[in-house]
Amino acid sequence: MCVALEEMSQHRMGLYNPGCGVFGRYPPPAIWAGSKEQIAKYAVPTIRDGLKTFFAITEPSGGSDPAGAIQTRAEKRGDRWVLNGRKVFTSRAHDAPWGLVWARTDKAKGRGGISCFILERGTPGFTAKPIKVIRTSAIPNDVTLEDCEVPAENLVGAEGQGLDLAFDLLVKNRFPYSACNLGVAVAAHRMAIAHAKQRSTFGAPLSQRQAIQWMLADAEVELRACRWIIWEGAWKADRGEDARVEASIAKLYSSEVLGRVIDSAVQIHGAYGVSKEFPLERWYREARVRRIGEGPSEVHRMVIARSLFR
Ligand SMILES: Cc1cc2nc3c(=O)[nH]c(=O)nc-3n(C[C@H](O)[C@H](O)[C@H](O)COP(=O)(O)OP(=O)(O)OC[C@H]3O[C@@H](n4cnc5c(N)ncnc54)[C@H](O)[C@@H]3O)c2cc1C
Repeated sequence: MCVALEEMSQHRMGLYNPGCGVFGRYPPPAIWAGSKEQIAKYAVPTIRDGLKTFFAITEPSGGSDPAGAIQTRAEKRGDRWVLNGRKVFTSRAHDAPWGLVWARTDKAKGRGGISCFILERGTPGFTAKPIKVIRTSAIPNDVTLEDCEVPAENLVGAEGQGLDLAFDLLVKNRFPYSACNLGVAVAAHRMAIAHAKQRSTFGAPLSQRQAIQWMLADAEVELRACRWIIWEGAWKADRGEDARVEASIAKLYSSEVLGRVIDSAVQIHGAYGVSKEFPLERWYREARVRRIGEGPSEVHRMVIARSLFR
């Protein structure tokens, strides 16, 4: 999947739309912890028909520490769960047919009191209002849940297991997510090399200037290192080994390499780098989100550091 996504994201809207969905999309991995019926009803059509999905963890009270921040409640009433609360920055909640929502089912239990639910977009009481951000694709939303009823069978996994599923989701997602960072960086790097070869200033092509060569050489080293970091982590995850630290390393490094490589590519292109005729300005904007979404860089550094002292 990482190999394919690196290739699939090498186009103008690749970071949030690898292959434009023509090869299917990947649902939030927590759904694989669901029942056979849930997988057949939700996960299979997502892959088969290329449906968009959403996952709603972050709330106004914060996203870095969901165990402490989640305040949305789910209360069992007969054969239904009733959800009340607010989520913010839920990407695609306004146009995806279904998604996963994390809510507190037991106030007293802290981390063990959070559960995961499947929610369909048309459910009464569910509203999603787009939030304008630096990127214009995969629009995030302010989501309100007001007495939103979901059938009991929409609970994913066991009650109180939601946060474990969320972390499983985030860990497994981080390799394909990182592969998209890498793919877009590879595309930007390729454009920068081509431009440096054909653009001349002061009587010589940019490719002959050491200042430019060093930018491109550094990018080449970082891209190769990034690829191995992603593949090693994905390989560990495939073998069923604990890949939490590898996921943080891949996400942290790929998002920061992406930022540096695109920044150099923009610089080498001069004014064209920030012109909307080229994809670079779009990648530059979208790349900035990658150091915040799916856990900010600081939180991944914290996870890595904790593993060193454990
Ligand atoms: C465009 C976009 C799309 C998103 N899509 C989704 C989505 O689909 N679903 C979803 O659930 N969420 C989504 N998010 C939310 C994202 O996951 C959160 O923004 C992220 O987890 C950080 O949470 P926060 O913004 O509340 O920042 P906070 O948790 O308030 O943290 C603020 C800043 O403090 C710093 N920080 C935090 N903790 C530490 C620490 N321990 N040590 C040092 N520094 C620290 C970091 O620099 C961080 O950026 C999206 C965000 C964006 C911008």
